Amino acid sequence: METTHDQEQQQASALADSIPTTPCGRMAQHYATRGWAVLPLHGLTGTAESLMCTCVAGAACTTPGAHMLDGFELQDATSDSETIAEWFADYPSANVGIVTGGPRDLAVIRYDRARLPAAARAVLDDLLSGAPGIAQFPDSSSAEAYVAMPATSPATAYEIYPGLSVATAGALIVAPPSRIGASEMDWVAEPPPDLPTVLWSCDELRERVRSGQAVRPVVRRLSDVAAEPMGWLWPLYIPLRAITLLDGDPGRGKSTLLADLTARVTRGDYAPSSDDAMPTGAVLMLSGEDDFASVVRPRLEAARADLAKVFALTEVMSLSDSARQRISLADHVEAIEDACREHGIRLVIVDPVMDFLGGGVDSRSDHAVRNALAPLAAMARELDLAVVLVRHLVKRQSGGALNHGSGSIAFGGLARSALRVQLTDDGPELVSVKSPGLRPPSLRFDIIDSVGASGCPIGNVEWKGASTPSTAPDDSAAARAEAFLRRHLEAGQVSATELQKEAKAQDIGWRKVEEAKSAIGVTSRRHGKTWVWSLPAQGRKDAAPLEQDGLAVFEDGDSEEGCQP
Ligand SMILES: [Zn+2]
Repeated sequence: METTHDQEQQQASALADSIPTTPCGRMAQHYATRGWAVLPLHGLTGTAESLMCTCVAGAACTTPGAHMLDGFELQDATSDSETIAEWFADYPSANVGIVTGGPRDLAVIRYDRARLPAAARAVLDDLLSGAPGIAQFPDSSSAEAYVAMPATSPATAYEIYPGLSVATAGALIVAPPSRIGASEMDWVAEPPPDLPTVLWSCDELRERVRSGQAVRPVVRRLSDVAAEPMGWLWPLYIPLRAITLLDGDPGRGKSTLLADLTARVTRGDYAPSSDDAMPTGAVLMLSGEDDFASVVRPRLEAARADLAKVFALTEVMSLSDSARQRISLADHVEAIEDACREHGIRLVIVDPVMDFLGGGVDSRSDHAVRNALAPLAAMARELDLAVVLVRHLVKRQSGGALNHGSGSIAFGGLARSALRVQLTDDGPELVSVKSPGLRPPSLRFDIIDSVGASGCPIGNVEWKGASTPSTAPDDSAAARAEAFLRRHLEAGQVSATELQKEAKAQDIGWRKVEEAKSAIGVTSRRHGKTWVWSLPAQGRKDAAPLEQDGLAVFEDGDSEEGCQP
């Protein structure tokens, strides 16, 4: 075989000496020595202003200079130098084409840099860096890499990704220096002395390119989006089709408050302090801490819930071996969705959310929390129900670094509404800290002693109406900024840069933080190149307990009042 190949090369050079030929003809011989099968293509004729194809269609040709000469077929492609020499002598204006595949597994990866998504482009550039055979189209963002691909690849030319096509065996490629426009195609470097063998198939190539991209844009024309009014479980406080966050220190009555809401939903009663009826339906509870028999049921009875419409979900069971495992938001959203569909759920309560994130989810990782909760948010949209996630706030422990609270950013970001139960001088209060609509007033409530059907004392909520204007939005912005500073500086000094980042993440205006800084006497000192802030000595944690704020570290261990045996 080698001898034949050498002979062909000798013949080719002999012919090149004896027969006048063109740039395309010479390059065709060069390709043939690589074992590639070539074909003559129609070329272009005419002046630069009026170029037209040499085929019968002429100026009307839709693929000028890019299709086979009349009477030729793909099977005619050859590496025989004598035949090639004759073709290009007969058709001096012919372009040169290559048929992919063959003994060398020639494949051509065509990519349009203008169309490829940026991340995919970076991956492709990396994969092809140093590849010897890259041809460029004149005046175009497209290029073609000549590679060897395993013969197992699908044998067609097709787009495997937006802006990325692969021509494997049996495709006709227009090769340099063919003229297909005002100028000629060209090699970025000299035509490849040998092909790099690419070890991936088309599918693998697609996966690699796709792996560079975490997301692809899914755009919708706004005129195609049906307008629909915001639906509410509790107007302005708890939206339907979304996640609501309910924060509060342990023992402040969050679970009692939710028992009251649950009861109202099961009865289709009015929302607290409102003239609007809540949508009637069932409630699904994922409750991690309170015992259903001794705490949850008595509490719901005290709130006059229709218990037939309240469902508890704590475990999932494997269909194959009946093995049970604790339910987790990260792994079992589909099971939760099944339960919701089956029982007509309008409200899902996860109390507390940290108990149900799933073992593998790092609650401090923004990314992990987002990934775990996004399917839940999608489920809420799909099923037109409300999800309430309960978080405990605990006073910051010693040595608390800022990043301990980073999980909270993802929670707050995913939730469309955020509520907080806090204690004021006049008793507990429900405050809206984030609302998809107008910010609703803060509502006072009391936990009053009640008795469940089983006879054990249990708390029940009594709503006291809107708070006095002391918690109007203006004030609360300042209060939030002050609480933010106290919280983050409580354990020691923190750099201003870090505070700025954190304030931004929590949507607290830096101006407010600076005002709070002077209001509570925070000092700043230069430390190397950075400014560090610290609380005045008497403001540290030993002296000034944080009363009504927190939004940072979550810990297990909230057990609200219950009926202990
Ligand atoms: Zn044509």
